[in-house]
Amino acid sequence: MKDAIDFARRDLHRCLQAYPNAPKVELSVDDALGEQEYTIDGDSAGYRIAGGSPVGAMYGAYALLSRLGFRWFSPDEWDEERPGALCLPVLHLREKPSFSLRGFFGVERRDSEAFITWMIRNRMNFWAASSGYSELCSQCGFVLRGNPPGGTHRICADFLPPERYFASHPEWYALIDGRRRANMPADNVSDNICFSNDEACMTLALNLAEALENGPLSTTTILALAPFDNGIWCQCENCAKLGNKTSQFMHLLYICQKVLKEKVSRKVTLISSAYHEMLPIPSMPLPDDFDYDGVMLEFFPIERCYAHDFNDASCLANNALNARLLDWTRNTRFKVILCEYYNVSTFASMALPLADGMTRDIPYYKSCGVEAMNYMHVSTALWGELAFNNWTFAQKLWNAEADTSDFFEKRYHASASVMRRFYGTLAQASRNCKLLKHYQTVEVNKDGGLVNFCVRRRLADLSNPGPFFPETHFHYDRDEDGLPSLLTTIRLLDEAKAILKEALAHCDDEIVQQRLLIDMCRFSYTYDIVCFMEALARLRLNENDADKAQKAAADLHKYGERLRQEKSMTANIRAEGAPNLKMYINGLTATQCQDAYAALMKKYGLPVAPWQPGELTEIVQG
Ligand SMILES: [Zn+2]
Ligand SMILES: [Zn+2]
Repeated sequence: MKDAIDFARRDLHRCLQAYPNAPKVELSVDDALGEQEYTIDGDSAGYRIAGGSPVGAMYGAYALLSRLGFRWFSPDEWDEERPGALCLPVLHLREKPSFSLRGFFGVERRDSEAFITWMIRNRMNFWAASSGYSELCSQCGFVLRGNPPGGTHRICADFLPPERYFASHPEWYALIDGRRRANMPADNVSDNICFSNDEACMTLALNLAEALENGPLSTTTILALAPFDNGIWCQCENCAKLGNKTSQFMHLLYICQKVLKEKVSRKVTLISSAYHEMLPIPSMPLPDDFDYDGVMLEFFPIERCYAHDFNDASCLANNALNARLLDWTRNTRFKVILCEYYNVSTFASMALPLADGMTRDIPYYKSCGVEAMNYMHVSTALWGELAFNNWTFAQKLWNAEADTSDFFEKRYHASASVMRRFYGTLAQASRNCKLLKHYQTVEVNKDGGLVNFCVRRRLADLSNPGPFFPETHFHYDRDEDGLPSLLTTIRLLDEAKAILKEALAHCDDEIVQQRLLIDMCRFSYTYDIVCFMEALARLRLNENDADKAQKAAADLHKYGERLRQEKSMTANIRAEGAPNLKMYINGLTATQCQDAYAALMKKYGLPVAPWQPGELTEIVQG
C-alpha cells in the first residue's frame, strides 16, 4: 500500500520540476521522532527530511515547500501560489504540531479530491468518515470522525429505538410531567432517554457495540456521542441524583466505554460534548475507573461573540464561555477538542474575515491545554475571502505562534496593500455578524444559564413587535465602543466595495485577477444579504410610517430578488442528506428570512418570482 511519503514525493516532484535549481529532497522515517514530528536539514545542495512516521515525513515536505514560497490558499486551482524563482535557504529544524487533531467538523459526504488535497498540503488530519476519499485520507494520516446513522445527536433514537423497546420497557425512557415518554421525531425537539437507568444504558451500549463491530460504524475509530440537540431531559429522581445534565450523560458514556472495551475488537475513542446545557463540568465525581485515555471532550462555544477575543473579560458572552472552558481544562482530566463556528450554519459562507481573531484565540486555546481543534461548517470550494479564514486556521493549528501576515503579499502580489485595507474594512463590518445572523449570549441568568439574542430571528418573526436589537454590542443606528451599528456596517461595506473595485481596476496580474473575481462574487453575495437585513430592519422599525415602510419594502424587494438568483455562493456548504440543506438553496434562503419576506412582499404589493420547491419555511440549525 502507498504511504504518505509516496504522496509527498509525487507532490514535491510536481512542484519543483520546473525550476532549474530544484533541490534533491530525501524523505525517510526516524523512529526516535514523534509520529507527527520531523527534522529538515540541508541547503542548496539538497535537503534531508526525516519524520517520526511516513506522515511526519510528509509534513516535513510541506514545511519545506512552504519555506520555498509555495502556498495553497484554497482548494480552487487558482489559489495555488508558486514562487517566481527558488531561493534555497540553509535549514536545520525540528518541528511538531501545536494540536494533535486539526481539521473540520463534517457529517454528510461533501468533499472533493481537491479539498482533501488542500487539507493534506496544509497539514490537517481531522475530517469525517463520510468522506468520498477515505483511502487517500488514511494514506495521509487522517483521523475520520464516525457518523452515526442519524448524526451524533440522535444516538438515543438510533441505538435505543422506542419502537423496539418502549412497550416492554417504558422505564428506560424519560419521565416528563409524571409519565414516561419517547417522542423522537427526526425534525423536531426530542425526548432523551432515562440516563440513570443502567439497563437502558447497557442496551444502548450493546447496540452501539454491534454497529461498531459488524454494522455501519465498522471502520470508525473515533465517535462523538451526544444527547438530542435542545432535547428534553428525564425528570426522574434517580437522574437528579446523578448530578447535573453533564453528569447524567457521563453515566451513559461510562457504561458505553465498558461495553465497547469488551465487545469491540479495536480501540474506539469516544467524544463527549460540552454544548448548550452540558457546558458545565460534571457536578459529581466520575467513577474511579473512568477511562480518560479512551475519551475526549469536545467544547462547543456556539453562543460566543466574534467582535471580541474569546478571553476578553469585558465581553459577557465570551467571558461566560471562557469560564466554562477553563473549568474543563483545569478541573477535569479530559483531553479537550475545541469546535469553533467560523462558518456556523447561518453565516452561510458569507465573506466574514475572522482570521485576525483566530491569530489571538488559537494560541489562547493552546495555552489553556486544548489538544485538538476543528470548526463547523467549512465549505469545500469557491472560497474567495474565506481563504483568509481557512488558510490562517490551518497554519495556526499546525503552529499556534505561526506568523500568517504574508497572506496578502502572497495571494495578492502588487495589490497586497489595497487588499489589506479591504480585509480590514470588511473585518470591521463583520464584527457583529454573530448577533445579526446567528445568536449570542447577552445575559447570564441566576442559575448560570446563557440567554441568547438573535436579531435576524426577531426581525423575521412578524408577530414580534420588538425590540429587534439587544441592549449591548449591536444597535440599528448607534455604534457602541467601536462596534458598528447596522447602519455603520452598511457604510463600511460600501467602503469595502469601492476598495475591491479599485483593486480589480488596477490589477494586470492574471492569477490575482482570478482571485479577485471570486472575492468579488463572495463579497457581493455578503453585501446583498446584509443590505437585505438592513432593509428588513428599517421596514420593521417604520411599520407605522407608510412612506418609509414602502421605501424599505422596495429596497428589501430589490435585494431579495437578487439573492434568489444567487446559487453558486451557497453551493458547497452542505450536501444531500444534511439536515439544513434547505437553507442553501439560494441567497434568499440563506438569509433565513424567506417566509417573512414572502409575507411582507404580499403586504406591500411587490411582485416576487414564483417560489421554488423547498424555498419557503425557515429552519433554524446550529
Ligand atoms: Zn431518569
Ligand atoms: Zn462581545
